[in-house]
Amino acid sequence: MKTTNTNQSLLARSMAAVWHPCTQMKRHETLPLVPIARADGIWLTDCNGRRFIDGVSSWWVNLFGHNEPRIKAAISTQMNSLEHVMLAGFTHEPVVHLSEQLGELTGLGHAFYGSDGASATEIALKMAAHFWLNIGLPEKNRFVYLADSYHGETAGALSVTDVPIFRTAYAPLVRENFSVLSPDPRLAAEEETAEQYTARALADLERVLQNHADEIAALIIEPLVQGAVGMAMYDPVYLTQARILCDKYQVLLIADEIAVGFGRTGSMFACEQAAIKPDLICLSKGITGGYLPLAVVLCTDVIYQAFYADDTAKAFLHSHSYTGNALACAAALATLQIFRDDDVIVQNRIKAAAMNQVFAPLKAHPRVQHWRQRGMIWAFDVVDAPPGFAQKYFQNALNAGVLLRPVGNTVYFMPPYIIDLAQTEQLTSAALLALEASLQA
Ligand SMILES: *Cc1c(COP(=O)(O)O)cnc(C)c1O
Repeated sequence: MKTTNTNQSLLARSMAAVWHPCTQMKRHETLPLVPIARADGIWLTDCNGRRFIDGVSSWWVNLFGHNEPRIKAAISTQMNSLEHVMLAGFTHEPVVHLSEQLGELTGLGHAFYGSDGASATEIALKMAAHFWLNIGLPEKNRFVYLADSYHGETAGALSVTDVPIFRTAYAPLVRENFSVLSPDPRLAAEEETAEQYTARALADLERVLQNHADEIAALIIEPLVQGAVGMAMYDPVYLTQARILCDKYQVLLIADEIAVGFGRTGSMFACEQAAIKPDLICLSKGITGGYLPLAVVLCTDVIYQAFYADDTAKAFLHSHSYTGNALACAAALATLQIFRDDDVIVQNRIKAAAMNQVFAPLKAHPRVQHWRQRGMIWAFDVVDAPPGFAQKYFQNALNAGVLLRPVGNTVYFMPPYIIDLAQTEQLTSAALLALEASLQA
């Protein structure tokens, strides 16, 4: 009884003092916040001792589970020597080491740091436009983005994000850019094959590049999976061809691997599956294993060299207070070490194949369509979902012991990589229970 009272006061205090993200706060009059006390592995434990499987890796950031001893140790050790120093005019071992490793992994270089994913998007957009300015083409300062794209919610990032509910209220603050067809094959016309649809999406991209290349700095793209719209998965051939078109029309390619990077789609980076190298890459979310905010943009040497000059105005004069935070870099280095020590990419491939078997009853459910999987992401759409389905499903899933947060009528799983098959069975049963409960009128 005592804990319940304490929790009620925690919820009331949270409602009074905290403005929760991506939330109509009034909803919490009827849907109480969930007070989390602890987390370990794939489990979140609330203040009453109820446990939930973290089926979305705490908004896609947690790779190796909560309470991961190696990442904790790395942060703790780093804290003994240096927690933070400004990165303008100063440097330190963790940021250099991390930049070297990310350079090796991406084939790009000169890592520029921010904190959240949206700061990486801002950095990449500014860097791309400034690159063209520095080489004498200042009119190349607009961007191409895919329909249904998501690149973050700061003002610049919103200008390349196609999610009306995030964008409409801020329309006067947001610059117009060029939107092209999404390669999501679910958008194919009835008589059209997926291949034909991909070709049509590429033709749309080429039309915009052909007509506007002289005002376009870059194409920004979520490689292989458009996450926020509801895990739209598309063919790598679109990326391969988009790279060719960017080269043909002299437009930079920005790969936003904030969600898909660090093994999520089955390779370290999603671009590898299309055998392409972007001009700029944005990384964040999983980079610290879900421990601390960190974002980074790496670029080609050609871009870097365009800023390297005697003239200060040619420099990339962008900064955030916590740029290159030493604790966050230590967490990222530990995360990369786990990838090597545990052979994560290979092990995930084996695990995902086995998990597909476990998910079979869900896939076979008569109201499930467009079942799809790439790496450690699974998603499906619910046919004839009732109004308010996402909210209902979220609540019913919690009742069944799982954190799942559908987007519209799409339910997805993005579990921490350490999930095992027994836990996958629990996840499947809970997802089925929640589905049945949410389909009831
Ligand atoms: C989450 C996300 C972002 C924004 O990252 P934040 O840390 O939420 O600012 C940008 N791009 C993609 C693809 C994302 O999934």
